[in-house]
Amino acid sequence: MKKTRQSHVLIMVNRDRCGVCGCCVPVCPPDAITLHDAYLEVDNETCTECMKCIPVCPTNALYEVPVEAVVV
Ligand code: SF4
Ligand code: SF4
Repeated sequence: MKKTRQSHVLIMVNRDRCGVCGCCVPVCPPDAITLHDAYLEVDNETCTECMKCIPVCPTNALYEVPVEAVVV
């Protein structure tokens, strides 16, 4: 699913804060979050912007950015 003008935010990962604990992975309904060996990846083309992942992160590493503020 491509981002369109109807999309509002992108989910970003602050890799300096992320401890790669994996807590956010199972809460994502469309499986948009992938845990790699040393970093976390969010597929914003799959993300449905449900915001379930942001509050579960113990280090506040996940944050949202308005689509208008980034080049996609
Ligand atoms: S906002 Fe929702 S769909 Fe997007 S990455 Fe977080 S949990 Fe997954
Ligand atoms: S819950 Fe936070 S610290 Fe844990 S993997 Fe996700 S973004 Fe990283």
